[in-house]
Amino acid sequence: MLRIFIPLTLLLSTIACHAQQRENPDATILSRAKLVSQTDRVEVYRDDVDVEDGLAASIDQLYVAVEAQVGQKFDTAALGKKIKIVISNNVRVSHVWRGYQHMSDPQAVIFLNTRAYNGFRAKTNATLVHEMTHLFTWRYNSHSLREGIADYVARAVMPNTAVGPNEANAVPNGVGWAFKYLGSNHLAPPELTTDPEFRKNYYFSSYVLVKALIERTSMADFLKFYEGVYSDTIFESTFKVKRLDLICELKLATDCK
Ligand SMILES: [Zn+2]
Repeated sequence: MLRIFIPLTLLLSTIACHAQQRENPDATILSRAKLVSQTDRVEVYRDDVDVEDGLAASIDQLYVAVEAQVGQKFDTAALGKKIKIVISNNVRVSHVWRGYQHMSDPQAVIFLNTRAYNGFRAKTNATLVHEMTHLFTWRYNSHSLREGIADYVARAVMPNTAVGPNEANAVPNGVGWAFKYLGSNHLAPPELTTDPEFRKNYYFSSYVLVKALIERTSMADFLKFYEGVYSDTIFESTFKVKRLDLICELKLATDCK
């Protein structure tokens, strides 16, 4: 009986573990990550990779820079007092807790891949700033604007660096899906995870649009719209332009008249 029982227990725990990984691989990585350094506001963890000791202090400076750019405090009531940054060899694409589903389960955790970590240390990659901005602007009404504001702050805090899928010298391309997704309240398109070219264009065009919206008004006005209820009327009254007209003005779409 015991002989049967032991393998069965092992089997069940293996199944449970696989189920957890399938359901939420972030939780698995976070549970085994080791704390490396911390400040009052950030904690740095490592998973399957070596991380420099003093990193928390430099990320703390980043926290201050992002806070200054967005002009609003970190939402400690919703997200807690500290941001956890997990640097991992087992993360393919850097992301915040639960990725595109973050708003449904908001937690202040960033998973950074080793490429973005090395790029941050070399000051050639601002993906960490992008992810941190997601936490400062975690409540949003438009996925495109969410990615756009994260790239905007990343490019402001670390100019002339790569961010996410785009190099420092990226240029906007007109695309056929601009009206549907850019600055709209459409859900994150599935092509973001299957089509690298789509992904690049989506992030960069969203950045170009957000930059224009902030330049037309202010960061505070932009964030007021971004955190509020989405509507075309409010978009137009806030930014004094129709979304589709601005997309055409910025040459982000191929189907403008
Ligand atoms: Zn993002």
